Amino acid sequence: MRRLLCFRFMNTRAAVNRRYQPTCYEHAANCYTHALLIVPAFVGMALLHRLSDDRWERITAWVYGMGLIALFLVSTVFHIISWKKSHMRTMEHCFHMCDRVAIYFFIAASYTPWLNLRELGPLAAHMRWFVWLMAAAGTIYVFNYHEKYKLVELAFYLTMGFFPALVVTSMSNTDGLYELAFGGLVYCLGVVFFKSDGVIPFAHAIWHVFVALAAAIHYYAIWKYLYRSPPLEDIRDA
Ligand SMILES: [Zn+2]
Repeated sequence: MRRLLCFRFMNTRAAVNRRYQPTCYEHAANCYTHALLIVPAFVGMALLHRLSDDRWERITAWVYGMGLIALFLVSTVFHIISWKKSHMRTMEHCFHMCDRVAIYFFIAASYTPWLNLRELGPLAAHMRWFVWLMAAAGTIYVFNYHEKYKLVELAFYLTMGFFPALVVTSMSNTDGLYELAFGGLVYCLGVVFFKSDGVIPFAHAIWHVFVALAAAIHYYAIWKYLYRSPPLEDIRDA
């Protein structure tokens, strides 16, 4: 048992050592770019909650909002630890895993309003729980192979990001799909910076900005087309 723990710790150290070590300014930028979004994420969740007409919309607002908050909060905590407590390697490694897990759940949470509040066919409706299954599978992967196969990890994120879109784009109501696609494009462009640590200065902070922009575009689409617009029945009644 002791040997196993020792081996895992050595692996942890090796994984951390392999990572690019940012400069002090880069660390600060990594923290602030997501820390500043924690409060707006709370406000955004509260706004959707307020606009909800029924229990299902309220639950959906809560799930989506928690995904947003968790992403920015976990990312901020990880980057603070990485900056100020880098000597606590195991803790840093744990929070790095949490940061990666939060991305899987954030993707699932981002699709939830579209999958829950739009009309879906009987087969497509399975995507409502399947996205969470994919997030759970991603979590298991992170806990077993974190930082081992970086391209596989990236392929997992892209698969999870695009697979539910097959269902969303096949919906009869296409309002908001342009915004959804545009947000997806911004995430993809950001991946260039995500993979450029040590090559482009402040690459990780720039990736954070792309994430924030894409999340804001998706939030706008969800607010405008799923929460702000009155349901079709109300329009017909008017
Ligand atoms: Zn980050």
